[in-house]
Amino acid sequence: MSIRQVAILGSTGSIGVNTLDVIRAHPDRFQVVALTAAKQIERLAEQCIEFRPAIAVVADAIGAARLSQLLTDKHIKTQVLFGPEALVTAVTDSACDTVMAAIVGAAGLVPTLAAAQAGKRVLLANKEALVMSGNLFMQAMKAGGGELLPIDSEHNAIFQCLPAQFTKTPAEYLGVEELWLTASGGPFRDIPIADLAAITPEQACAHPNWVMGRKISVDSATMMNKGLEVIEAFWLFGLPLEKIKVLIHPQSVVHSMVRYRDGSVLAQMGQPDMRTPIAFGLAWPQRIDAGVAQLNLTQLAGLSFSEPNFSQFPCLSLAFAAANAGGTAPAVLNAANEIAVAAFLDEGLPYLQIAEVVEGTLNAVPSVSADSLEIILGADAKARQIANDFIRNIKR
Ligand code: NAD
Ligand code: MG
Repeated sequence: MSIRQVAILGSTGSIGVNTLDVIRAHPDRFQVVALTAAKQIERLAEQCIEFRPAIAVVADAIGAARLSQLLTDKHIKTQVLFGPEALVTAVTDSACDTVMAAIVGAAGLVPTLAAAQAGKRVLLANKEALVMSGNLFMQAMKAGGGELLPIDSEHNAIFQCLPAQFTKTPAEYLGVEELWLTASGGPFRDIPIADLAAITPEQACAHPNWVMGRKISVDSATMMNKGLEVIEAFWLFGLPLEKIKVLIHPQSVVHSMVRYRDGSVLAQMGQPDMRTPIAFGLAWPQRIDAGVAQLNLTQLAGLSFSEPNFSQFPCLSLAFAAANAGGTAPAVLNAANEIAVAAFLDEGLPYLQIAEVVEGTLNAVPSVSADSLEIILGADAKARQIANDFIRNIKR
């Protein structure tokens, strides 16, 4: 068995730390060749001291100088680089065969696309990259000839419930009728939308079942996360949008399902612990110990499922609208949402205005065909500018 050479984009985040936790338990299978982070220099230094990657990348020169100093003090020979281009260097480095794409948001698009083009095994956590560039990204994967393994728990579940030949055979031929994405409904599932005006970032980030980064936690509260995941599933699995359904399942035990023509529904179940899909992706097609507690079905109080209430979650409706519009609309949706969520977390934008900013931006930026990276990044930049204008007007 050859040892997998792993690069982690976003190693200091929630997914990055969980990935290193799985790798730590399997030194005979995995070696870390590159680690990257934006600003958490101390945490990245600790990771470099433990895992000894060839390359570490941070956002800027000041961070790089600090990291270099911390590593020199410990006689660690990791090469320290900085800036967006260095993220591409980290994944196209010939030593790396597997890339965990776990940067949050649009910042992860270019290096993730580079990993796809270079034929790496791409472990895709960074859903925003696929939402923005769907067609382009899937083409890059095909051209590069690498393997794409979804890490988002719902998509990982669906991947596990589909027959192995699904990447080469149309879903129709395989008898796949529908994909059912489960959603916990987040912390505000049963609170009327009118009562959410004064929600604070701390309340929005307190997810009932999962521990995650702050941006995805807010997305889970608004259910924009599920909307992004519908678009993610559309590109990953190639089914028409009307065959991708969302089901509220508060217990987060069934991670998603595939319904087949013959009446079968296949589900993947497990603890709400991202180390399961991460271990699945790292070791595929083998299965390894993920360090996750066993699921004890006899201890569950019950599993329930219901239809989402779209009027309670306007962001979910907006995501479906953008998905149906196609072209650059999903990139615009994503960019506006990133700006609005950051403003909610850091600048006091009221919670309910997140959806307003996204809707206003979607209406203001016409969708065009998403044929090139330049067009997609152009739509992203335009949407950010318009979303910021909306936020300034709301504050006034
Ligand atoms: P996080 O905020 O905890 O970590 C983000 C990582 O990206 C950090 O290492 C950070 O340094 C890096 N980063 C942020 N901005 C950057 C920039 N501009 N340039 C370079 N690096 C940057 O986020 P997370 O919860 O780990 O989520 C990561 C991705 O995985 C997201 O796309 C999220 O939607 C997806 N995801 C996360 C979970 C989860 O359980 N956390 C589950 C499913 C999918
Ligand atoms: Mg998910």
